[in-house]
Amino acid sequence: MMENRFVYMDNNATTQMAPEVWDAMVEVKDLYGNASSMHSVGREAAAVVAKGREQLASLINCDPGEIFFTSGATESNNTVLNIARLLIDKGSERNRIITTSIEHPATTETVKFLQDRNYKIDVIPVDESGMIKMDELKKALGPDVLLVSVMTGNNETGTIQPIEEISKLAHECGALMHSDATQAIGKIEVNFRDWNLDYLSLSGHKFYGPKGIGVLAKKHKAPFFPFIHGGHQEGGYRPGTYNTMGICGIGKAAELAKKNLQEEHDKLWAMREKLRKGLLETIPGAVVNGNQEHCLPGTLDMSFPSAEGESILLYLDMEGIEVSTGSACATGSLEPSYVLLAGGLDIELAHGSVRFSLGRYNTMEDVDYVIEKLPPIIERIRSMSTRPFVG
Ligand code: PMP
Repeated sequence: MMENRFVYMDNNATTQMAPEVWDAMVEVKDLYGNASSMHSVGREAAAVVAKGREQLASLINCDPGEIFFTSGATESNNTVLNIARLLIDKGSERNRIITTSIEHPATTETVKFLQDRNYKIDVIPVDESGMIKMDELKKALGPDVLLVSVMTGNNETGTIQPIEEISKLAHECGALMHSDATQAIGKIEVNFRDWNLDYLSLSGHKFYGPKGIGVLAKKHKAPFFPFIHGGHQEGGYRPGTYNTMGICGIGKAAELAKKNLQEEHDKLWAMREKLRKGLLETIPGAVVNGNQEHCLPGTLDMSFPSAEGESILLYLDMEGIEVSTGSACATGSLEPSYVLLAGGLDIELAHGSVRFSLGRYNTMEDVDYVIEKLPPIIERIRSMSTRPFVG
């Protein structure tokens, strides 16, 4: 029996800030100047903003001038869909938007808002592993498509979409291409220029940076409109006084992510694979969800028949293990995950899903601890279930 420990395995919901990020932010704590002011106190703050912009641009391979700071990926995704909406309102010949059935609510809810107002949206389905059905995408693409928006890596299953290929198809038909790369940043290589993206969204707190700061990367030539009106920050496209400390933090997080990308990827994958194998061996009937070949390295989504995700989560919490069921954004509802249902997963299995999302600060001992604690929990829940498990 291992000693009790605290194991945070909900890194797709959010990560703790890296100590290096915190140190960098503390270092600039006295730079209170407004980064838009022309005097020296302002210029000091502006230098911090410029450095952060460069660090982000270097991580995703774009020009610093293509980085626009936002409050996070929710705002970035909304902005991209609103750009499309405005272009359609202005009479663009292209008036259709393509997206998928497994996007984050920051996209799906905006899409619903647009659908309710009669904008034309095609939602492309995914296969049982959560991969976009490419033949359906190809069928949907046409001369009237304005924007294609497909996430890079899914927050629940970790399934990675072939963004470079999708971007090529989108451009062949003359559409703009957006990818929500929020979950992929710092875990796999994300390349704005090589993937030929027009827009990309990311959020600082998913890769050990601060919360409330994110980026919308926008290709120089891609259309842009402000949806918040005010000062001239970010070329007037995203006004508001610069969040100097937040930008310093997200910049440092980007620098660390770039430096350790391969090492971190391999470490996460090794821990995830040990956890996957360990749980499959010790829990009868356990099922792994999502694509296992094209998968974010730290994400493991599993279902345990005759055991509901919420019960598992609470029992694990009592053992000091923090996980989630489906998406943290769906917490508060007892609906099964729409992402898993979209892949055709049985509703009961979708109810019994648990997402383990490992991060930089997890260790192999954490994995051993979960492998020790979870099997008896599943057994206990099953023994109380009205739908007994028949193995
Ligand atoms: N997209 C994805 C894929 C996400 O996982 C999240 C966060 N759960 C978001 C967008 C939204 O990010 P934020 O809440 O930081 O705005």
